[in-house]
Amino acid sequence: MTSSRLEERGAALGTLSAPLATDQLFNARHAEAYWQQATRCIDLVRRKVGGVDRPFTGASPEDLKGLFGTIDLDAPLGELRPALEELERVYLDDAVYFHHPRYVAHLNCPIVLPGILAEAILSPINSSLDTFDQSAGGTFIEQSLIDWTASRIGLGRDADGVFTSGGTQSNLMALMIARDHHGASLVDHGGNKHEGLPADYRRLRILGSEISHFSLQKSAAILGLGYQAVMPVACDDHYRMDPAALKARLEECLARDLIPIAVVATAGTTDFGSIDPLEEIAALCRAHGIWLHVDAAYGGGLLCSRRYRHRLAGIEHADSVTVDYHKTFFQPVSCSAFLVRRRRDLRHVTYHADYLNPLCQAEAGTPDQVNKSLQTTKRFDALKLWLTLRIMGADALGEMFERVIDLAGEAHAELTRHPEFEVLLDPPMSTLVFRYHPAGLSEAELDELNAYVRAALSRSGEAVIAATRVDGKRYLKFTLLNPDTRLEDLTAIVERIVHHGRAWGQSPARAAAS
Ligand SMILES: *Cc1c(COP(=O)(O)O)cnc(C)c1O
Repeated sequence: MTSSRLEERGAALGTLSAPLATDQLFNARHAEAYWQQATRCIDLVRRKVGGVDRPFTGASPEDLKGLFGTIDLDAPLGELRPALEELERVYLDDAVYFHHPRYVAHLNCPIVLPGILAEAILSPINSSLDTFDQSAGGTFIEQSLIDWTASRIGLGRDADGVFTSGGTQSNLMALMIARDHHGASLVDHGGNKHEGLPADYRRLRILGSEISHFSLQKSAAILGLGYQAVMPVACDDHYRMDPAALKARLEECLARDLIPIAVVATAGTTDFGSIDPLEEIAALCRAHGIWLHVDAAYGGGLLCSRRYRHRLAGIEHADSVTVDYHKTFFQPVSCSAFLVRRRRDLRHVTYHADYLNPLCQAEAGTPDQVNKSLQTTKRFDALKLWLTLRIMGADALGEMFERVIDLAGEAHAELTRHPEFEVLLDPPMSTLVFRYHPAGLSEAELDELNAYVRAALSRSGEAVIAATRVDGKRYLKFTLLNPDTRLEDLTAIVERIVHHGRAWGQSPARAAAS
């Protein structure tokens, strides 16, 4: 052994006898410390949330970046109190608070207590839901919720699925399985899993409406098909996929020797909340033998609504479905699922590793979720929905979602009466797309005005709203998910929009431009 190796070893022996900082390990000895310190964290959250008077302070990226300059990650603070004080400064003081009634921007819901309480349990126990031998009862909790969701959708007795990190991952799984389902049907091909893509892979197509979620494009790229594989299908006046346009696209595929492997119907588009005509799309998919995936990341919450469940009619025909519990089931991020009609189709994501989930274990009937998942180590997110259903029940969730759907309708009525606003659509769910449209402005000016208004609102922090483009024009968007938001909150935001809009009209930049 060289002298330096000997020194290294001596140093290692020295560290073994020196006391380690194991006082920060969660275990029986520190359960009390965990409780005390967790209480301080909870207390901090209680104090912060109690003091929030607007959804955001309006801090800019530059403002926040400046706070990080002096922090040296190699100089630990040693204990909780100063670390929490620092965290307040760099994060909590300027966090975006989704629970605030005037946060109406993206599909971020306020979350229910049972979901948060579940986090307080699942984090310290830290089960990993990849194999039964790392999760035990946790596996059955996840599986029960998959079965429950599949049953609410009406997928039938052979359905199965798995929790995922979000709709993006669920959509990726759907398209991967649709691609490999097609691969498995080829006579001269041993399946994509073993052989990679078939020779004519460039002919494969994924059809989704022109406003379907961008995760379709991302997935197509990841799956080796490229954006070129995503074929947009035109929408009708209500931003729903037009079945006639889908039929034409399918015929076009035949004529051009292209191979449609999946149709993605969206049940709740991100911008409009529009629900594609599921029955008609399903009939076309059946006639052409094409995989039907329903992206219900947003609309999935309707599964809990007695009053509006019928809007999802036809979803039961899907071959696979995406549901995001962290959107319309009021769960903390992440909490989402991917479901299939035929459990056998999940074999396309299965890999048997000797050390983890050997084939013999599956044959013996051990329920290892990893056999159905893209992830290996996997959070026990299912516990959040579990505790929510066990404490509140599905009806309570459905009623919360109904409240915001009704609110969107009321806000629509209000806004259409306003002479200076243009509203695009009577909301099919809980978003409202509109723009501030005072008379006498050109399209370019309207774009500038609406961008200005949104930025001004965001800087003031008095409300957080979203923006989008429709036919190239800038629009503003309310995404309503908070049952605590009142019509008065929305009319107050509208007043602020008008206020900032008038200020734009008098701004020096505008005066210089005109
Ligand atoms: C939000 C959304 C997604 C993506 O879900 P994430 O959970 O954000 O990954 C996919 N599809 C639709 C229609 C969505 O609204």
